[in-house]
Amino acid sequence: MIVAKFGGSSVKDASAMRSCVKVVKTTPGLGVVIISATYNTTNELEKLYSSLVQGDLTAANSQWVQIQERHLKMGQELGEYCLGPFQVLMDSLNFKLKEIFTVKELGSRHRDLILSFGEQISSLLFQLILKEEFKSEREVHLVPATSFIKTDSSFGLAIPKPESIKLYSEGLFREGLRNGHLFVTQGFIGSDGNDQVTTLGREGSDYSATLLAAAINASEVHIWTDVDGIYSADPNIIKTAKKLKELTYDEATVLASAGAKVLFPKTLAPLRDQGIPLRVGKTENPTGEGTWIRSSVENPNDLIGITAKERSDGLILTLVGKGVYNLDIEHSEIDRGDIFRSFYHQGGENEEILGLWYKRYFS
Ligand code: ASP
Ligand code: MG
Repeated sequence: MIVAKFGGSSVKDASAMRSCVKVVKTTPGLGVVIISATYNTTNELEKLYSSLVQGDLTAANSQWVQIQERHLKMGQELGEYCLGPFQVLMDSLNFKLKEIFTVKELGSRHRDLILSFGEQISSLLFQLILKEEFKSEREVHLVPATSFIKTDSSFGLAIPKPESIKLYSEGLFREGLRNGHLFVTQGFIGSDGNDQVTTLGREGSDYSATLLAAAINASEVHIWTDVDGIYSADPNIIKTAKKLKELTYDEATVLASAGAKVLFPKTLAPLRDQGIPLRVGKTENPTGEGTWIRSSVENPNDLIGITAKERSDGLILTLVGKGVYNLDIEHSEIDRGDIFRSFYHQGGENEEILGLWYKRYFS
């Protein structure tokens, strides 16, 4: 049984959502779909929260109206059948927001609640179109992530509780999956012991997918995004960067932690024990080979990739792969591990520096 996650750019509008539906329909064995908020919505909700903190209710209100209108338009484009359930959800979110508007001391728990609106809206729309698509062929259920992604109460960066997640997800999914039902749920959000909404950290939907996959012992996780896989360097900057066919959990984790934006750094941890493989692929090119991440790979690469993180007036460049120890690099080394070395490069234009380093060590 496969767990698939679609990122924000994959559900950015009605036509992008339809591409996701195509992927769902052509993936045999797919049992659970995890959805991110639509593109940029979480950022907009962050702004809404800031407006509230600053006491600017007018700004907060107009930000909320814009978010609603954008999604209403999406619902209209997707089909009439979306509008009733969409309005029901909006009524309940409006009610919650009104309550938050009256709170004197806002804190991170209110922020998490507000941020969760993005995934709540996108997942509802996605479940509705899947339902319409499958009709009586297959049952499609929407399960709130708050009912099984149990976490501690560190709002904003909540720590999941794998045992509780397993317990709750077995109860919620097992029977339906056995009967061939399809489930839709939200990435990024969970709930604590008091059933308050928590979030796993910005960009954390990948993590939701692997936490659930481990809990229900899925056979694979598919992460669908707007790039064809993981590259030896950011393909938006380095046009000659190579797509990596396969990576180990360690290699992918180092790349993600050192700045490759394609995966949330904690994503692979839940998969290790069971050795569940994860594939990163592009929604608009579902038959492409993507990048597979597993316990071990067939043809290990000595030099895997380079990532960059911006720091005040310089860049931290991390070279990944066990071969990095054979390289002679005359820069101040600031960190190293089994399969990486990080360097500080001061001054100059960031993209140009990354280009230079890539050319020197990877081509
Ligand atoms: N919507 C959340 C964010 O933008 C989580 C995610 O997309 O992974 O941070
Ligand atoms: Mg992401």
